[in-house]
Amino acid sequence: MEFPLQTGPVCLRCGSALASRSTSAGAVQCRECRMAPPPFIRAASYGIYQGRMREAIHALKYDRLHGVSNGLGRMLAEAIAQLAGEAPEEMLVVPVPLHASKYAQRGFNQSRSLARAALRILRKSHPAWRLTLASRTLLRQRATESQAGLTPRQRRINVRGAFAVSDPVRVAAQNVLIIDDILTTGATARAAARALVEAGAASVWVATLARAQRVGGNAFFDTEEDTPLAGASPEAESHAASSSTIGPAMPAF
Ligand SMILES: [Zn+2]
Repeated sequence: MEFPLQTGPVCLRCGSALASRSTSAGAVQCRECRMAPPPFIRAASYGIYQGRMREAIHALKYDRLHGVSNGLGRMLAEAIAQLAGEAPEEMLVVPVPLHASKYAQRGFNQSRSLARAALRILRKSHPAWRLTLASRTLLRQRATESQAGLTPRQRRINVRGAFAVSDPVRVAAQNVLIIDDILTTGATARAAARALVEAGAASVWVATLARAQRVGGNAFFDTEEDTPLAGASPEAESHAASSSTIGPAMPAF
């Protein structure tokens, strides 16, 4: 079973691929991170959202094959382990929440399942770490539109203010690790991190299973939310039909 890994130079901050010409010019962060530094310190991912990885995430989210969460949890643990030596050893682990309506539809939050599986592994591989799962820390206060087909800017606007911290006292002066399954433009991670920083978090880190790759222009091969791709299986399409969309990013001619 092969899960695609990211190769080549990446942004030290958010992990997005850097053009080799920009690294030869000495850039270690992508343009977006340089222009608008994210509220998190670093985002680590295990692999790329395609091939086997995409199938496994779909199996968990849409087919509810919970058995895959152990294997995926191991990969998420490796992503978190990339932060060793840099991130504090004591952190609150906060899965990105689903809106209540989506949670009711799916019945579980895949980011929480993955976080639990990863923490079980890290307790053995990194016994010095004190990672505490704090699932109810973030609230999704409004149902955001699907991010699919949106440009990076539209994605930022779409999720702006989408998150709130349920108990700011719990977060104050704490180091927080946000967990999500997929990171696309980082708009969701930025919005979630901003809410935590505003609530007084000392530092915010991000770990995701997979990072979606840009396929040209502003299009991404995937979604940060969960609308399946065009050409996905018929079962997956039915989920797309049930979620709302914001319309095409480009005007129709
Ligand atoms: Zn970056």
